[in-house]
Amino acid sequence: LTNLTDEALIALDTLTGRAASLVSPSLRLGVTGLSRAGKTVFISAFVHNLIHGGRLPLFEAQKSGRLARAYLEHQPDDAVPRFQYEDHVAALLNARTWPESTRAISELRLTIEFESASAWGRMLSRGRIAIDIVDYPGEWLLDLPLLGKDYAAFSADSVQLAALPVRADLSAEWLALAGTIDPDADADEMTARRLAEVFTAYLRACRQDERALSTLPPGRFLMPGDLEGSPALTFTPLRSLREGRARPGSLRAMMERRYEAYKTHVVKPFFREHVARLDRQIVLIDVMQAMNAGPAALADLERALTEILGCFRPGSGGLFSGLLSRRIDRILIAATKADQIHHTSHDRLQAIVRRLTERAAARADVSGAAVDVLALAAVRATREGTVTQRRDELPVIIGTPLAGETIGGESFDGETETAVFPGDLPKSPDALFDAGALAGQSRAIRFVRFRPPKLERSADGVTLSLPHIRLDRALQFLIGDRLA
Ligand code: GDP
Repeated sequence: LTNLTDEALIALDTLTGRAASLVSPSLRLGVTGLSRAGKTVFISAFVHNLIHGGRLPLFEAQKSGRLARAYLEHQPDDAVPRFQYEDHVAALLNARTWPESTRAISELRLTIEFESASAWGRMLSRGRIAIDIVDYPGEWLLDLPLLGKDYAAFSADSVQLAALPVRADLSAEWLALAGTIDPDADADEMTARRLAEVFTAYLRACRQDERALSTLPPGRFLMPGDLEGSPALTFTPLRSLREGRARPGSLRAMMERRYEAYKTHVVKPFFREHVARLDRQIVLIDVMQAMNAGPAALADLERALTEILGCFRPGSGGLFSGLLSRRIDRILIAATKADQIHHTSHDRLQAIVRRLTERAAARADVSGAAVDVLALAAVRATREGTVTQRRDELPVIIGTPLAGETIGGESFDGETETAVFPGDLPKSPDALFDAGALAGQSRAIRFVRFRPPKLERSADGVTLSLPHIRLDRALQFLIGDRLA
């Protein structure tokens, strides 16, 4: 955010936010991750477990019996859509289907009442904190680096990434089309539209299951939110830009203008109004999907993670003012869907996330915030067992595969429970990142998508709650200290 007005607005927001939180404590928790990482499921499980007294032994406030009650309240921001908690929970519990995924930003306020841990605190009054959960697509976050790039740099970087071996076949049509276009020719709406269509199709293809690549900006091309079909999204990078300025009236000039408009009217306001006001952040990543796709997808996930973490860096390369620094003081990077592997592999999954995060965090220099990593399942869809095969006891996971899933040629109807041997994760994460070591090996890991589970008895034994893996650790890191 380069101009004074933006900086002044952020400073003002930050100050008023802090003043307000002195009167009634609140905490803004950002939940992000690329599409299908598990944001909707995470927030639904987070809130449901707190409201319904879920089993959360590692969440200190609940373990020590200090959690009085948790309930939903009106959110403070009227202009932001509400996170449709009730619909999502109904899908999970009643229909046992996964809820509809995040498509845009939404918000939910959960208020927690608790007894203070200290005698002094208990004398004052019962503690109370409002947690404002802000759900938003990670794709939008990946737009922040655009603020520091002019159109020529954006074009050059996009072409360079498109030419990488892992993307080359997916980007071929766009690169070829862009190669036939003269940037200095007269601006033409139909050419711009055609380019935007082919470019968006390329970005979309990168996200397909077997490729599992992380997104490239502009983030709204894949997650348009309320900009769906709008002219603000009808621009693309161009190839072979000549040195110097664009000729007025040329295609390049038109693209450049739209690119700058996208930054001014889409990217900046999003950061100013939402990201800059967060206190804490959880970034969800689907490591398993990337792992299945191979080392190139993992390297790509690391690149995306570096860019995402860079957005939370105090001072963000001069893009944010000093007043913003240290606002986000805790960041949790969590691999979701750990219920797809046996618990003996959970620590290995966590080691893989740590390996991804350490390098990304060092590069992004997020030293102003505490960063932790976790492997979790917000909703645990499986239980564990063993199967004896030729006198060997094999650890398996048991669940109901989604209709249409296939294992070894067998196709499932979405009703039948089955045991799956998911395979072991490698002892050392290094093996996964090494294309040479993996070459020629058949994939050892096999992930199956399961239906959501039936409910289990919660801590109080009366209500029913959603089973999870290590969700309590995430809660403790993200909000535990604020309930002391
Ligand atoms: P979003 O796009 O980040 O909001 O992603 P969702 O929360 O909608 O999750 C995408 C899909 O991942 C879901 O439809 C589920 O199939 C799967 N998923 C998410 N969380 C979990 C989990 O904790 N366990 C399992 N087994 N699957 C999950």
